[in-house]
Amino acid sequence: MSPPLAVESQVQALTELYNSIQNARHYPRDLLKTAIVPNPLPLTPPSLSLYSQQLKDIAFTFRSDAVQSALRAAQESERADGQNIMNHVRRENRKRRRPPSPESPQPYTVIERQSSSFFPVTRDDLTPLKSSELIEYIRQFNKEHSSYKLGIWQGTRSFVKAVKNPAILRFTIKDVLTAYLTVSYTVNDLALLVESVTAFGPRERRLPHSQSEYSVYRMLSQELGRMIHSDPQVGLQKFMTLLCSYENMFTARCDKCQRVLCVEGHVAAVERVWNESNDQWEPRHVSC
Ligand SMILES: [Zn+2]
Repeated sequence: MSPPLAVESQVQALTELYNSIQNARHYPRDLLKTAIVPNPLPLTPPSLSLYSQQLKDIAFTFRSDAVQSALRAAQESERADGQNIMNHVRRENRKRRRPPSPESPQPYTVIERQSSSFFPVTRDDLTPLKSSELIEYIRQFNKEHSSYKLGIWQGTRSFVKAVKNPAILRFTIKDVLTAYLTVSYTVNDLALLVESVTAFGPRERRLPHSQSEYSVYRMLSQELGRMIHSDPQVGLQKFMTLLCSYENMFTARCDKCQRVLCVEGHVAAVERVWNESNDQWEPRHVSC
């Protein structure tokens, strides 16, 4: 059994690695491609060399003794008692842009053990929707929201009577986005949980499990994934309030910098933060 201090530094090493890998998901896709093909295209504009260095830093961190021994310890620990393992990596950690250099030790960041949900707890805490109630819910939802459309997706047919498990829902906001939600339930608990979401441009014709060709929708998919990750038990109704808040995705001002597009990267505000004082989701840039 490792002493607590050693465990703390192992957790920190893995958290930082996880964060830097998450961060790398924002890198230009072409760069990641050329990093794995044997004869990379000659692409070295100065802006890309920064990403290249960061990728090398990640690889370096991955191979470091600290990370390797932490991974071994984690594996042993899981083997000894793998119950109740939950991932509670906080997003404050994720905001860090670069992995720390080995010679500059970082303060240990406390990892929150309680609820880290980004969803409101004060409102909309209805009984989670059961699969048998889904079709009626969709009918009601479409009646109440004329600018949105929700349906069960199944290949070419857009609406079916029977609910599969897992089921894929297709949600559209006219001229703004199309999102595919994978929802499922278990035999012990018939409540529908949102497992994953992929967002696309309104005119993209792609399969639910692929990804958008536009970076803003890929960022949105990641953002929605992060939200689910914060609260894997979130019910469908509550999740839909989040999705509906993207109606003004391309015109909403960020609640931090008050700009529509962020200075860094000129991207719309794809992050949402729940504001308890006015009971709504506030837009924010990922970089703010
Ligand atoms: Zn901003």
